[in-house]
Amino acid sequence: MHTETVIPRDAAFFYEHAGFPYATGATPDEQDAARRENAAMLADAHAALADAVDAGTARVVWEDDADPDMSVIDETEYHAGNVTVLSCILYRQGPCGHLHVVESLGGIDLDTSGWSGWSGRDPYCDVVEAELAFEAGFGVTS
Ligand SMILES: [Zn+2]
Repeated sequence: MHTETVIPRDAAFFYEHAGFPYATGATPDEQDAARRENAAMLADAHAALADAVDAGTARVVWEDDADPDMSVIDETEYHAGNVTVLSCILYRQGPCGHLHVVESLGGIDLDTSGWSGWSGRDPYCDVVEAELAFEAGFGVTS
């Protein structure tokens, strides 16, 4: 188990690393606009999550996925130790004052063959945190 400090990433980071949805038949300009909008949204949510973690009202825990769905994982790489499968669990303080699980995602497979540990973690980890934060309503001001 690894409780992570959430480092805010800006919209440019998410523009580069995050996937993004766009309408079928969208022009390249429309796709780029969707990508920018998604990146800004994820940056807002991730920044709000980082503030909440600092304030002690949220927590992000990364742990090994003990029972990964092997149908979507390269078994050879997995058993060679080049792929690590993680779960990310997002806790948020509820009205009762406790931290409760509000979002989680498992089966996050990362190429860790050249990994030097959490300080050099995959940018996709930030994307996962931001997507879970967005789904949990962090950064939504309206
Ligand atoms: Zn409670």
